Amino acid sequence: MAPGRFEMQDIDVPEPGPGEVLVRVGGAGLCGSDVHIVHMKSAPFPFPMTLGHETAGVVEKWGSGVKGLERGQRVLVAGIWGCGQCRACLEGRENACEYWARRSPVPLGPGLGFNGGMAEFMVAPARSLYQLGDLDPVQAAPLGDAGVTPCHAINLVRSHLRGDATVVVIGVGGLGHMALQILRATTACRLIAVDTDAGRLNASRAHGADDTVLSDAHAAATLLQMTGGLGAQVVFDFAGVSPTLALANAVVATYGALVMVGLGTGSLSVVADAPPAGAPKWGVTLIRPYGATSRDIFEVIGLAQQGKLKADLERHPLSEAPGVLTALAEGKVRGRAVLVP
Ligand SMILES: [Zn+2]
Ligand SMILES: [Zn+2]
Repeated sequence: MAPGRFEMQDIDVPEPGPGEVLVRVGGAGLCGSDVHIVHMKSAPFPFPMTLGHETAGVVEKWGSGVKGLERGQRVLVAGIWGCGQCRACLEGRENACEYWARRSPVPLGPGLGFNGGMAEFMVAPARSLYQLGDLDPVQAAPLGDAGVTPCHAINLVRSHLRGDATVVVIGVGGLGHMALQILRATTACRLIAVDTDAGRLNASRAHGADDTVLSDAHAAATLLQMTGGLGAQVVFDFAGVSPTLALANAVVATYGALVMVGLGTGSLSVVADAPPAGAPKWGVTLIRPYGATSRDIFEVIGLAQQGKLKADLERHPLSEAPGVLTALAEGKVRGRAVLVP
């Protein structure tokens, strides 16, 4: 792809360099971010580029210096490729890589600066591959973003997630339906799913939601009523548009946490005074997480291996990628679309 253009092209199978692995792609998830990337007017990295930051496959071959792999091993490809040498990377927090922090508004990775997984083969740093064991690469592909990004967001507010807490999850599509499952598997909180789509809300019960609320003009009043007028201890916004941020802000409890995960370019005003109407309440923690750490990735794979985390999938042949991207942009994809080469 290049800015404004997304098309299928034949390119040579890449050769893994030192420290790199050639992965035969099993599945590549399509994400709302891909729609954003295609529609960017310009970007701080070179084009053309292969999209795909949510990829699983099998090890095909590797370059010099790579140890311990076997051909055919199933792997998840991390969606952020840090420098591997800074303090953050050495601590497993490649999503906070200091090299990229000095050079880029976001840490880069496959499909975001480097060639990604919407192809038959991709090259990745050996360090960025996570063993999947017996998990099916098509089913596992969405774990790479739709699984690990919510897991990271949840782990950042873990101290708020006590057994008597109420958690509101706004947007239960690609990432949100995974967030519900992770919250259900790792907390005893009361989970309330909020979405504009009644079908997604219906499905959210199976993903662990205790209650559902249609996202309309009455949603804030309904949620406050359901929480005794106090609001929820934690609110995750997986949309990130101004209406959902306003809703999240209206229903987060005093000293609660508002986690802005969705990159919908909405805004929220923060005022340093006794909270006027519309500003966050006293003590509210605002967090804008990005990506995931190594520990989050291991946790998500572990939950999937235990059968506690599974993406709702639509499988499509890779050749249909442009049409699926359009369907995603039009909100016609439920769960996660995975391209299969
Ligand atoms: Zn994504
Ligand atoms: Zn780094």
